Amino acid sequence: MNLLFLGTSAGVPTKTRNVSGIALRESKGKGWYLIDCGEGTQHQVLHTKLSFHSLKAILITHVHGDHCYGLPGILASAGMGGRKAPLTIVAPAGIKAWLEATCEATQLVLPFALEFIASDDLPSVEFESIAVTTFRLSHRAPCYAYGFAERKVDADLNIEKLTQKGIPRGPLWGQLKQGFDVEYAGEQLKSHDYLIFKNKPRKIVIAGDNDQPDLLMDACAGAQVLVH
Ligand SMILES: [Zn+2]
Repeated sequence: MNLLFLGTSAGVPTKTRNVSGIALRESKGKGWYLIDCGEGTQHQVLHTKLSFHSLKAILITHVHGDHCYGLPGILASAGMGGRKAPLTIVAPAGIKAWLEATCEATQLVLPFALEFIASDDLPSVEFESIAVTTFRLSHRAPCYAYGFAERKVDADLNIEKLTQKGIPRGPLWGQLKQGFDVEYAGEQLKSHDYLIFKNKPRKIVIAGDNDQPDLLMDACAGAQVLVH
């Protein structure tokens, strides 16, 4: 995973810094997540190699405009760019109502489905290679932090252990390497018992506005990076 800051200014943009927006890119492939989407975020994206076709989800920390006014524009542009795949939006409930009203009032018909998940329910959402957990913060509006943890990490097979155990080389080894538990000679073999991890799954926490730092303690357990 790595981060690309699309906007780091608070409240209003400046000539050199746009309002809130962060792209979290997956280590492999082109997949990325957008966390907050202040006005003008799509212009910032134009200066990068990010594609709206490979956007996996948008997560909004809270309803204040500097964190979300860029949403209708980005969705409309993704639609005009030919996106067809459904898009997950994790956001406080108000965002869904506002976006639907905006689409209706401005006759915006998106060629892809929006799948809303309410942050207020503190959801854990699993994507193909990243799991997202939601934490509540303290701000004038309901506000959240999102923890992004890698689900797949590079690992090598522990060949010595497999050989000792007499597990035959072949499909079973392949399944274990891919993280699946398998059954052999009436015994259930756990994948992680036969893997040597090159690095531990990493975790990044991205938090919205917050006036009680203690609230981030749970979110930050096991995390290497906090952005707030
Ligand atoms: Zn705010």
